[in-house]
Amino acid sequence: MAHTASLSQLQSPPWALVNGSLVPYDDVRIHISAEALTRALSVFEGVKGYWNNAGTEFSLRGPRAHYDRLCRSAALLHIPITFSYSEYVEGLAELGRRLLVPERDLWFRTTLYVTHGHWGEQTEADLVVTAFTQQKPDPAPMRLGVSTWRRAGDVALPTRVKSSANYVVGRLARIEVRRLGYDDAILLNESGRVAEATGACVVTASGGRVASPPTSEGCLDSITVATIGEVCRDLGVPFERRPLERTELLTADECGLAGTITELTLVDEIDGYTYDSDGVLSQVRRRYLEAMRGEVTLPGTELVPLITAEELAAPRAS
Ligand code: PMP
Repeated sequence: MAHTASLSQLQSPPWALVNGSLVPYDDVRIHISAEALTRALSVFEGVKGYWNNAGTEFSLRGPRAHYDRLCRSAALLHIPITFSYSEYVEGLAELGRRLLVPERDLWFRTTLYVTHGHWGEQTEADLVVTAFTQQKPDPAPMRLGVSTWRRAGDVALPTRVKSSANYVVGRLARIEVRRLGYDDAILLNESGRVAEATGACVVTASGGRVASPPTSEGCLDSITVATIGEVCRDLGVPFERRPLERTELLTADECGLAGTITELTLVDEIDGYTYDSDGVLSQVRRRYLEAMRGEVTLPGTELVPLITAEELAAPRAS
C-alpha cells in the first residue's frame, strides 16, 4: 500500500482556490518565468481536516500553527504575505464546502508561489489552495532505508521552514531507497545524526521513553511532533526532543514517522533492523487519532470546526 500523499496526487478535483477565488482545478496557471520555477520560490503547508466520529462536524487540525509556519517560511525567503489568518481559514472553508464529502477527510495544500519579481525585488506571490480527499485505512507498518543523501545544514538550505526546494534531496533519497524495496528514506544530517524522513519526522521509543530530534538537527518544525508531545504528556509517557545518533535509531525498541498526512505511522524495519509494533508508540498513535476525531480533548491541540454535515447537505446558492 502506498504510504504517503501519492493517493492525493492521483486525484484531480474540480476546484482550486487562487488568491481567494474559486478556479477550475485544470485552469490554474503559472508563467514559465515565475521565480517559483526558476528559483524554486514556493513555500507551502499541508493542512489536514478530520470528520468527528459522529460524522457531524469537520474540523481542521492546527490551522493557526500552519498559518504561522507559512508566515515564517515566507518571511525567511522574503515572500510577502498579503492575507490574514482569518482569510486563510475562510479560504480553506470555501474550498472545503466544494470538495468535502461525508466520511472522507480532506487534506489541503496551501502553496505560496512567487509569480513576479526578480532576485528579491518587487516580489509578488499567489496563494493557491488545493484539497484532496483522504480515505485512510490503518496503514501497514513501514520499512525504511537510510539514504546516502543528507539534509543540508541550516546555512545551506534551511529545513525548519517548509519550502519546495527542500524536497529535491528528499525526492532523490526516496528514489534511492525505493529501488531497494523500502517504502521511504531517512536522511541523516551533515553530522551523521538523524534529521528526518522525506515527508515526515522520525520518532523513536526506547524503554518507554519517546524521542524525536529537534529542528536544529535538520528537520521541519513539525506540527505533528508537537502534537505527539502533547499526547505523550497526556498519557504520562516521557517525551524529549534530542539528537539521535544513527546507532540509537537502529537499536531503538520502536520507531515511527510523524507528519500531518502520515499521522504517526509505525515502522517495523530500517535497513534490516526490526522494531516492536505494539509498544508505547502504538498507544500514542491511538490517542492521537482519538484526539483528531474529537473523542478526547488534548490541552494545547487545536481542532477548529470548519464545516458541519448539515451545512454540507444544504442546497448551495450558486
Ligand atoms: N518533514 C518533512 C520534510 C515534511 O514534509 C513533513 C510534512 N509536512 C514533516 C516533516 C512533518 O511536518 P508536519 O507534522 O508539520 O506535517
